[in-house]
Amino acid sequence: MKSILQVKIEPHQFRSRDTIAGDAALDFVNTVTGRDQSPRDWLDSYARLLEWAAFVHLLPKSALRALVKKAQKEPAAAGIALARAKVLREALFGLVTRIISRRAPPKSALALLREHWVTGIKAHELRFRDGGVLLGLRGDALNCDRITSVVAYGMVQQVLPLPMDRLRICHGTNCSWVFIDSSKAGRRRWCDMAVCGNTAKSRRFLARSRQRRRARR
Ligand SMILES: [Zn+2]
Repeated sequence: MKSILQVKIEPHQFRSRDTIAGDAALDFVNTVTGRDQSPRDWLDSYARLLEWAAFVHLLPKSALRALVKKAQKEPAAAGIALARAKVLREALFGLVTRIISRRAPPKSALALLREHWVTGIKAHELRFRDGGVLLGLRGDALNCDRITSVVAYGMVQQVLPLPMDRLRICHGTNCSWVFIDSSKAGRRRWCDMAVCGNTAKSRRFLARSRQRRRARR
């Protein structure tokens, strides 16, 4: 993986093609694109992190509105929270890619994930309604780390229990997005066939036609 210093920070408007991972925790990891060649980090501000969280419906709208206000009032805290979110994001990328290559993840990544996951658990409450107990996010005790803790919570509760042989990294160049392969055959190679799949196809096509030209000469 390239060092964080070489990552270009790039403003970005999130679109549905940016959320292909199958879970918001992995979509969060994919807010850096092109890790294998020229990495671009789309989280250029805490406000952008909030935009992303709204886009993937990570938190209720009321919580997002409260966080917008909080970040305006406490910009330093928001800046620290953004940095903490990115540290977790890189730890999750390391964790996922190690799992994909059947290697043990760094203990530090697991410890960091645990720390945010525990905060994520505390951000939830149990309510009794309609004869059952429901799990939901608390509306109170919001702090700027809420997005990070909910991402960590999702990673532990929703992603890690899945069959780990379904975790993938895109085979495209200048991509490195991670995703869950939920296809029936389990042979998904691309983040998006229309993006990386076609690029690879046309590259193979060009290489083959070059070979044919050479063979004819
Ligand atoms: Zn890709």
